[in-house]
Amino acid sequence: MIEFLKELLVVNSYTYNWGEINKVADRLSEEFKGLGFAVLKHTSEKSATCLEAFNNKDGEILLIGHTDMAQSLTGAESYDSINGRIVYPGVSDMKGGLVTLVYSLRVLRKLGLLPENLKIVLSCDEEQASPFSKEYLISNALSAKICLSLEPARANGAIVMARKGGVYFTLSAEGRSAHSGVEPEKGISAAEELAHKVIELHKLTKLDQGITVNVGYLTAGSTLGNAVAGSGCAKIDAKFWTSEQGKEVVERIKEICRKPVVPGVRLTLEQHSGFDPMEYFDQTQFIIDEVVNNARKMGLEIDAVITGGEGDAGFITASGTPTVCGMGPVGGLLHSPQEYLEIESLWERTALLSLSIVSLNERLKRNG
Ligand SMILES: [Zn+2]
Repeated sequence: MIEFLKELLVVNSYTYNWGEINKVADRLSEEFKGLGFAVLKHTSEKSATCLEAFNNKDGEILLIGHTDMAQSLTGAESYDSINGRIVYPGVSDMKGGLVTLVYSLRVLRKLGLLPENLKIVLSCDEEQASPFSKEYLISNALSAKICLSLEPARANGAIVMARKGGVYFTLSAEGRSAHSGVEPEKGISAAEELAHKVIELHKLTKLDQGITVNVGYLTAGSTLGNAVAGSGCAKIDAKFWTSEQGKEVVERIKEICRKPVVPGVRLTLEQHSGFDPMEYFDQTQFIIDEVVNNARKMGLEIDAVITGGEGDAGFITASGTPTVCGMGPVGGLLHSPQEYLEIESLWERTALLSLSIVSLNERLKRNG
């Protein structure tokens, strides 16, 4: 397992490195074919390959993951194992999860326990909110009964029952630049306009409801700072727990950004792709119960938690399919050069995933 993990680790599958992402996809595709799965490779001129695999095209259990990663390996040292951890970019998010997935399927196949009821989708652009792969995630979600996502388990070993959703915007303000001493009256300040907008937008935050609206980047004018700022831009992100909240907050952001406060300023609001929230349904509980019980049989006590971080699982629950995320190995410090994976948890979570696939399949068969 470690050898396979190391093989994946050295591939620089940063989310914009399509060629490298495809190397990971090809390697996994070979594995899936070897296990008797049919594999479909979806690609476009503007993306790497999104991988779809199934041993039953009507499979009820959907397994999802992603082949891209948030960081580039350029400048990364060679991988290190320290105190039972491997430290390396992408090790938890989510090359460890991919290894867990492949080995679970291998183990089940070897034992003759592999259910012919499985579908897999591996996004190639999850770190950009899956603008290309989203379509395949959703189409498979619509025809599945449950989904398990191979994102890493939390640092304390917990699995994930709900995630926030998010939307992203760029707000551009065009005013007019002018000498601030000689003829300031000719200027139209984009800086003043954006300042108003930041304050209005931040007022949409409701921490008690889990809604946040944040301007994370703000710029206007020239670096000399001796002229009325002629143009500027702000990057906005909003996070929320439910689709309802998401719709509402998007409306409010659009409303605020529609009209300028400073006469003469022209505003343009561009919306970028984001994740739907991964919502918890009543039917999610039986998946959690199965996983937690299986863990207990292995002598592990694990919790199911909610997290503010977004993920592909949001597209699955938005399609109405109950989902549990964080089924990958235990790790932490994701998206940082210190990202780590607990080595012991590789076998542990492989066993847990294998048991859970079998027991969930039995539950589905029993309940029709
Ligand atoms: Zn991830």
